Amino acid sequence: MSAEAKPSSIAHQLDTVRQRILGACDKFQRSPNDIHLLAVSKTKPVSMVAEAMEAGQVHFGENYLQDAMEKVETLGEGPVWHFIGAIQSNKTRLIAENFDWVHTVTSLKIARRLNNQRPESKTKLKIFLQVNIDQDPAKSGIDPATLGDIVQEFGQFQRLQLMGLMTLPTQRDSIDEQRVPFRALNDLQQQHLHTARDLSMGMSGDLEAAIAEGSTWVRIGTDIFGSREQL
Ligand SMILES: *Cc1c(COP(=O)(O)O)cnc(C)c1O
Repeated sequence: MSAEAKPSSIAHQLDTVRQRILGACDKFQRSPNDIHLLAVSKTKPVSMVAEAMEAGQVHFGENYLQDAMEKVETLGEGPVWHFIGAIQSNKTRLIAENFDWVHTVTSLKIARRLNNQRPESKTKLKIFLQVNIDQDPAKSGIDPATLGDIVQEFGQFQRLQLMGLMTLPTQRDSIDEQRVPFRALNDLQQQHLHTARDLSMGMSGDLEAAIAEGSTWVRIGTDIFGSREQL
């Protein structure tokens, strides 16, 4: 690949994704101002993140802490980092110190650790609660039946700001089927979260369905950075 081909291709793919978002907003009567694009750069090199930044992208999502830290340390304060991977207790300190958003909080235990470890010098850590909307035993996330209790406890966390709910549904093929779990997440948000307004839902394969059902953050990896090796 030539030196010029790579940057222009990421800029081009970003532009294509932005056009898809605008198309979905138009079709489903959403305001483009309400939809934020999170570029999921997991497993991709720092150079690709830098290219996306040059093309105007600010928010980046990472799943694997070790893979993320090199990028966080190299790129400094320019990007806004979102943690979107599974969280082990022994990793919460690095997440609380280096990320501004976490989309994958699935327990009060993890929330408490993030709260205690968020540095005073930083803004509150913005949190999405991850819900296992399909109640799929193979997926992590809060059982919808226990969500109300967890939300009630959240008031005690002075260093966290609850932004809304996130989900990663079981894969479905048609847009109508994809809309079902997203609508269910939006319903849960209405029912249990009275001040939080964000919904983190939609990836490369289902962003239109997510926008149709109220998403405010779409998390797009493959369609910006290309396919990934399994990590
Ligand atoms: C990898 C990942 C994405 C991006 O998925 P693509 O299908 O590559 O767009 C979004 N959200 C989460 C939680 C992920 O792990």
